[in-house]
Amino acid sequence: MKSISEIDFSNKTVLIRVDFNVPLNEDKKVTDNNRITAAKPTIDAVVKGGGKAVLMSHLGRPNGERNPDFSLKHILSEVEAVLGQNVVFSEECVGATAKDAVDSLAAGGILLLENLRFHKEETAGDEAFAKELSELADFYINDAFGTAHRAHASTTVVAQFFKGNCCFGSLLAKEIDAIEKVMRTGEKPITAILGGSKVSSKITIIENILDKVDHMIIGGGMAYTFIKAQGGSIGNSICEDDKMELALEILKQAKAKGVQIHLPVDVVAGDDFSNDANTRVFPSNAIEEGWEGLDSGPETQKHSREVLLASKTILWNGPVGVFEMDTFSKGTINIGNSIADATKAGAFSLVGGGDSVAAVKQFGFEHKVSYVSTGGGAMLESLEGRTLPGIAAIYEMA
Ligand code: AMP
Repeated sequence: MKSISEIDFSNKTVLIRVDFNVPLNEDKKVTDNNRITAAKPTIDAVVKGGGKAVLMSHLGRPNGERNPDFSLKHILSEVEAVLGQNVVFSEECVGATAKDAVDSLAAGGILLLENLRFHKEETAGDEAFAKELSELADFYINDAFGTAHRAHASTTVVAQFFKGNCCFGSLLAKEIDAIEKVMRTGEKPITAILGGSKVSSKITIIENILDKVDHMIIGGGMAYTFIKAQGGSIGNSICEDDKMELALEILKQAKAKGVQIHLPVDVVAGDDFSNDANTRVFPSNAIEEGWEGLDSGPETQKHSREVLLASKTILWNGPVGVFEMDTFSKGTINIGNSIADATKAGAFSLVGGGDSVAAVKQFGFEHKVSYVSTGGGAMLESLEGRTLPGIAAIYEMA
């Protein structure tokens, strides 16, 4: 399968699915342009290669209604600023208006189509709508990892009309490569750090990666279900009693597969779920009533660091404490620091899925790890071992 750098785009009209679902403030100004910046290499490859770039995206959830609050026109000036060139806007994403706009575009030009989700057919994965989109171009690139887990018209269904004429954009290719490096080709020892509040939301990931990793560090709120299941006293810590049996089963499976599970040995507990709470360090299996474990303790932090520094491949999903509160952020910062140091020493590190990405950005580790995923739900589904429909469609049609 050809990568984007191997394709000659001269005189081609290229339909590019980007993820421009950016946050807007009350004045409809873009407050974070990361997703636009992330798509720039792919768009540049097309226009610098002499092609016409036709950009399509969704913005928010207009639910099939033409709601001006969700118009992509609001982001046009930001897109122009990031891409460093004039971008034409089409008020329609399909039909004669869109076709005329494409026809009027010069080689090297960029067109931004109106919000795909103004048509309910987009999220329904409607084939006729996908065909209409396909009629605008002779090549298709999917560069929207954030929606690759959706079988929508523009992310999946449209690919069938571009047999032999489609490829991944460079952002999507990087995401796929990062997942491959952890899940299939990762150098051992491989360590996964799983945190967050609940076991129930991570169970499929845990089961899938037990076959791939050597070490699993379990932290955050979900650790207490494991500790209580083993007979520990967890005070007022968060716990899913109905998942205790499952926790024991996971520990059994891990043992059978030779995976070392690292649960916290000590915790920083608070007498209140608040940044101003009084704090005390307890052994993780002897937390007194009236106290709840909200961060990993000093021994646990030391141990996690040792495991991480000895790892060659690292996956991080979920904070190991209530990092949003300064008082309980040290354990999560320790994980970030340790991954940064391991990465510096040559390990490959991927941070993906939800709150660990927020933590990495908040504490400034973003450029000290190998890769930070741009897609929350899409990354979680990849870690669960699912084949994302948007990715499968390109593999099938390229
Ligand atoms: P999740 O969305 O499941 O990845 O969970 C992320 C959330 O888990 C963050 O907002 C953390 O504040 C929270 N969290 C982490 N550790 C704990 C804990 N020990 N008790 C309660 N919540 C926690």
